[in-house]
Parts: sequence; C-alpha cells; structure tokens
Amino acid sequence: MKIEVDKRGYYGNFGGAYIPEMLYPNVEELRQNYISIIHDEGFKKEFDQLLKTYVGRPTPLYYAKRLSEKYKTKIYLKREDLCHTGAHKVNNTIGQILLARRLGKQKIIAETGAGQHGVATATVCALMGMECIVYMGEIDMARQKPNVERMRILGTEVRPAKSGSKTLKDATNEAMRHWINNPVDTHYIIGSVVGPHPYPDMVARFQSVISEEIKWQLKDNEGTEDPDYVIACVGGGSNAAGAFYHYYDNDNVNLVCVEAAGHGNETGESAATTVLGKPGVLHGSKTLLMQTEDGQVVEPYSISAGLDYPGIGPVHAHLFESGRADFYSATDEEAMKAGILLSRLEGIIPAIESAHALVALEKIMFSKDDVVVLNLSGRGDKDLETYIKWGKY
Ligand SMILES: *Cc1c(COP(=O)(O)O)cnc(C)c1O
Repeated sequence: MKIEVDKRGYYGNFGGAYIPEMLYPNVEELRQNYISIIHDEGFKKEFDQLLKTYVGRPTPLYYAKRLSEKYKTKIYLKREDLCHTGAHKVNNTIGQILLARRLGKQKIIAETGAGQHGVATATVCALMGMECIVYMGEIDMARQKPNVERMRILGTEVRPAKSGSKTLKDATNEAMRHWINNPVDTHYIIGSVVGPHPYPDMVARFQSVISEEIKWQLKDNEGTEDPDYVIACVGGGSNAAGAFYHYYDNDNVNLVCVEAAGHGNETGESAATTVLGKPGVLHGSKTLLMQTEDGQVVEPYSISAGLDYPGIGPVHAHLFESGRADFYSATDEEAMKAGILLSRLEGIIPAIESAHALVALEKIMFSKDDVVVLNLSGRGDKDLETYIKWGKY
C-alpha cells in the first residue's frame, strides 16, 4: 500500500495544516523549502556525518537469542537506545537544526511534555551554538525536574507555561505564540510526526534512517531486507514512522503499533488513541485524538511519559483507518513486566516507552521462521525511579 503525504499534507483523511493565519508565513516557508534542503548533497553529507560521529549511527541490529527462544521466533532489536542522549529523538533534532540553519534562523524554540524532546533539542542547540528556549508546563517542570536541569546545563532557557492545565498543550500554545511573534529569526522544532504539514513528513524523513539501516543490516544477517514484522511503540509516532518508512509499500511486512493503555482502556486512565479517540484537530493537524463529546481534549494517562499524549500523528491515524498497520495496547503493568523480562533475558533495561512495544510479543502468534524486528526506541536510565517505585523485580 502506498503511504505517502499528498500535496496538501494529507495521508488519506488525516493531516493538513490547521493553523492560525498569523502562523501561515512560517509554515509556508518551511513547506516550500524542506524537500529541496533535505535532498541537497551538502545537507545530506553534514546530516550523515553527525549521525555517524555524534549520535553513534548506525545503531546495531541485535539478534536477541534468549528473547527469541522465549517467544519461539527470530527477534531482532533495533538498538535506538544506544543513540547519544538515549533515544531516537536526536535523529530528528539534528535534522531540523541543520535545516533551520539553511533557512537562516539563529534561534530555536521547542515545547516539551516529559522533557525528553526538550533535552534532545537543547543538546543540538549546544552542539550548534544556537540560542534555545523550551516551553514546558509548570506542572511538568515540577514532575520532571532532572530533565529541566539537563536542559539548563546544556544552556537552554526553560520557560514555564502557566496557563490552563499547565501541561504539554499549554506549552504548545506558548511555543506557537512565540513563533508567531518571531517569524524571521526563529525555527520551531517539533519532536514527533505531529503538527501542521510539513512537520509529520519532515520528521518521518529524518527518522527514516532507522528502517534504511534495518534493510541492509537484515540483509547481512538473514539474506533478506524484509522482516515479517516490524514492531514499535507509538506516542506521537516518530520512532514507529522511522522504523516503518521503507516498508510501507511492501505488504509482506506486517507493521505493528503498540499504544499505552495506562490502567486499562476501560478505566478512563489510558493513552490508547486508536481505541478511545475520534477524528479532530490537534496541534495543527487533523488526526485521531482523545476528546470529550464537545471536543475538549482529554488528559491522557500512561506510566510512560513519552506515550502520555492525547493523539497520534496523522500517518498513524491513516495506518489505522486503512488497516495497513495492526494496533495493540499495553497496560502499565504489562509494560513494566516486559521491561523487567528484557532486562533479565538480554541485559538491556529498556525505556518504559519501548517496553510497551515488547508487550506485542505476548499478543501475536509468530511462527518459528518469522523474522521480527522490534524498535527499541530508548534506554531505561531515565526511568530508573519508575522501575524502583514499581518495585516488582
Ligand atoms: C518520546 C519517546 C517515545 C515516543 O515518541 P514517538 O514519537 O512515538 O516515537 C518513545 N520512546 C522513547 C524512548 C521516547 O523518548
């Protein structure tokens, strides 16, 4: 199935650019230039060089022998947890900051919920010597103090969003307002395949290095570029989009998304958008989102900060609606158990986001010759306190 953004920024029924008039010139500047910049030879060279020498790419494709024995199939882990800063997010922030420089921008803004995208942005701003402001809900700042301090150590100013519920959506509003007021010198780095067109497509292109590598790495190991399954967790959907990108058109490759079900989809404390969401507009694009009858965004819940988002990217809404990908959801309890299991079987403590993807191994009946690639989006160092609090290990 062809999964591709059209000229207006849609994947099927989802996407587009639902933005205030005042933001139109900024987004239009980006839309007109992003493809030619990404295809420019000089850009590609600089991007590839930084991915190699700074991020540590290619990340290994690791054959997980003990995990494979447990699930009676062949499981490979794509080790995005070994990226500098501990997750895949930096692939995108490097791409966007190089693009911002080519657009002549001197300043960067971003918004962050749990702080992970803020840290990935602060990192590349330090790397490039660019001024950086990250908006963060006041409540999130209190909950995620270590990430706030990381950003500050890296030289970023963290500005509290004090309106509304003082969380991610308020930080997003403040960042948008900032961008409207500073269109000429500032680029807004969005952290997942969400936001108005062209962000979802642009971020997917930067993350597509994940499946580009899987193809040749799998060829070296299995003699074929194509696995039977690719599995990834979905918050906004960027690590999944990167791991799926070069397989969209190949219907022999099953694409599997795992969303966070929190305490359970029937409890009202969940973040499983495809189960609980309806079409609507969030963060500048038409997609599926969790909302009340009268269209108010519902606060999501997950033990994992990176999956605690009320929507999904438009491409994932389309993958869901078209049936191209299968969607599962994993509760806090299931994910924590899966995280401990991976630690014990392979000596890898995963990010709790990535542990959600591991839960799919319990839910799918594989045959013994299937080749399964699971995108391990991040490492568990940042989640140590959550593991300790959970306690059952
Ligand atoms: C942020 C994050 C995610 C969720 O974001 P996506 O855009 O869905 O990839 C998943 N895993 C880790 C480790 C993260 O930091």
